[in-house]
Amino acid sequence: MLLDHDGAAQHQDDDPLDPDRKFGTVGAVALDANGNLAAATSTGGMTNKQAGRVGDSPLAGAGCYADNESVAVSCTGTGEVFIRTLAAYDIAAQMRYGGRSLQQASVNVIHDKVLELGGSGGLIAIDRAGNVALPFNSEGMYRGFARVGEPAEVAIYRES
Ligand code: ASP
Repeated sequence: MLLDHDGAAQHQDDDPLDPDRKFGTVGAVALDANGNLAAATSTGGMTNKQAGRVGDSPLAGAGCYADNESVAVSCTGTGEVFIRTLAAYDIAAQMRYGGRSLQQASVNVIHDKVLELGGSGGLIAIDRAGNVALPFNSEGMYRGFARVGEPAEVAIYRES
């Protein structure tokens, strides 16, 4: 199965706004001025998935999670592994009960736990202090973030 951002799924001359390619993953996380954290995840699933397969995206705690006390997380990748690791919630748990920073927890989940089970993908997350983490272990991940009054930042591949 392929992810949206796997090299093999990319066709250089494809129009990124082609309406026939509108079934990719979209995730969003936000922190508002009142300290509310929110996360949303939408996906078309994975290429060649079995009919009726349910991935991690609609499962709170697996592909999506938000809690005002810790963090908002939205995941993309091999859903079966994000379900087994409860990836999004595990970040919140590491922060709340283990005292880890967002950066430590999200890197641990993506680069250790998900990778160890053969999972590919990444996540976007923002914590209650406004720290942002965008880790991924796949070849690339379409991503961006913005803060009020600052220019938005976007990227696909690893920063050099
Ligand atoms: N996580 C999704 C799934 O397994 C795929 C994706 O959108 O990244 O269904």
